[in-house]
Amino acid sequence: MLARIRSAAVLGVDAYLVDVETDIAHGLPTFVTVGLPQGAVKEARERVYAAIANGGYDFPLRRITINLAPADVRKDGSAFDLPIALGILAATEQLNGAAVRHDDGRSAVGEPGPPAHLPVGPPVLGDYVILGELGLEGDLRPVRGVLSVALAARREGCRGVIVPQANLAEAAVVRDIDTLGATSLPEVVAYFTGCGSLQRLAVDPVSLFDRSVPDDVDFGEVRGQEHAKRALEVAAAGGHNVLMVGPPGSGKTMLARRLATILPDMTVDEALETTKIHSVAGMLPPGGSLVTRRPFRAPHHTISDAGLIGGGTHPRPGEVSLAHGGVLFLDELPEFRKNVLEVLRQPLEDGAVTISRAASSLCYPARFMLAAAMNPCPCGYWGDQGRTCTCGVLAVERYLARLSGPLLDRIDIHVEVPAVPYRELSTDRSGDSSVAIRERVNRARTVQLERFAKRPGIYANAHMGPRDLGRYCRVSDGADALLRTAIARLRLSARAYHRVLKIARTIADLAGAAAIAPAHISEAVQYRSLDRPVG
Ligand SMILES: [Zn+2]
Repeated sequence: MLARIRSAAVLGVDAYLVDVETDIAHGLPTFVTVGLPQGAVKEARERVYAAIANGGYDFPLRRITINLAPADVRKDGSAFDLPIALGILAATEQLNGAAVRHDDGRSAVGEPGPPAHLPVGPPVLGDYVILGELGLEGDLRPVRGVLSVALAARREGCRGVIVPQANLAEAAVVRDIDTLGATSLPEVVAYFTGCGSLQRLAVDPVSLFDRSVPDDVDFGEVRGQEHAKRALEVAAAGGHNVLMVGPPGSGKTMLARRLATILPDMTVDEALETTKIHSVAGMLPPGGSLVTRRPFRAPHHTISDAGLIGGGTHPRPGEVSLAHGGVLFLDELPEFRKNVLEVLRQPLEDGAVTISRAASSLCYPARFMLAAAMNPCPCGYWGDQGRTCTCGVLAVERYLARLSGPLLDRIDIHVEVPAVPYRELSTDRSGDSSVAIRERVNRARTVQLERFAKRPGIYANAHMGPRDLGRYCRVSDGADALLRTAIARLRLSARAYHRVLKIARTIADLAGAAAIAPAHISEAVQYRSLDRPVG
């Protein structure tokens, strides 16, 4: 007899539905899985066998064939355990009492049912997308990519999903479908045979965006460095990449850590995108739901290019994708290996990374705000007022040359972070708190969201392409003259000119101005210090 259970698999960060077909025939006891099973799928047999036997059901000693359709896509992970176990039980008529459709007269158990908007009746096996890893005792363990699966189920018009209990909060943010959580195989069997129920949960995503928990660091604690703090506010408001240059101990890392506390609130769409990536990477905490705070990733400079970009035998998103929607902070930028910095160029340009594999290629979103910090020279005191640099000119040049021009070109804001004079450190006056700065950032970001409402994929000024500049960056007459002078005097490249315009747009948004004024241009030009001719 043949049974068909709906399940799903994840490719990249999106899921597609998979039919798990189970055929049980007379013959010597065998268990074959076809449809390009990889790694953990091939091992499902042992877990399924133990879970069925320990659940008090009969494991058929016959010829069992499992087909995962569509057959031409590789399938990895342990999420097929539960649908395979249910398929075996259904095909051996151990799911008696389960409502089964025979729409087309075939003897199949669990044919795909009607879409969600059709009348609600008793649970029908084929109406649900089912996934979960089985423990040997039949308990259900969490799997990766559940949010993507729930979104796919809704897209395909399925009635709902049945997921391990630990993944329920993640699936439940998808509206308009039935999201059910189960703790064991017998619980799922009881649900379909009408002997029990499963926990049903629906979560309003908006209710998860609660900022009442205070951050453990705050900009209010930073004394001095008003110029750097302002630069970070502008960067956060417009999503601009930022590079901080200054001697050791000037507080670059401290400032960067606080950048996370002033990032604008995420929209629901942004949160869904980021959560999908974290879920696929297995980075969501147990019972976790949406990622509602922008991520702040700070990989060490010894990271490999695969760790940064993603990939590996069983491809996983890298740091650039985990930072999607948030900040990727690279401290001691020149210490990163050159090939590692080179691979940053594609995500910085395209907002995504493509990982090539033998048979196919995967794409992970990777649009992040790059924040980087570096010393001005190997010893750190080049250009410092108080201390003498001990590096030769050549050493300084070699140090700076580790950063390629194309990389520097993609960083909008350069800011010098000098050592803080003692008198500033000893004052009691502290600057704005993170909450106050974030309010300004949020206001500026709201203006941008309205501006780009009809440009899908653009959330902030930093994402504008050259063609958008003419449309959205209206410059007042005085500002235009100032901009021309600055370009001529500083010999700015065309790219640098575009950067100045984008930053000026963000500064004008922070000021609530519709047109870019001279003051906005002159502040924006200050943030291009590394473009200025040396000497
Ligand atoms: Zn030095």
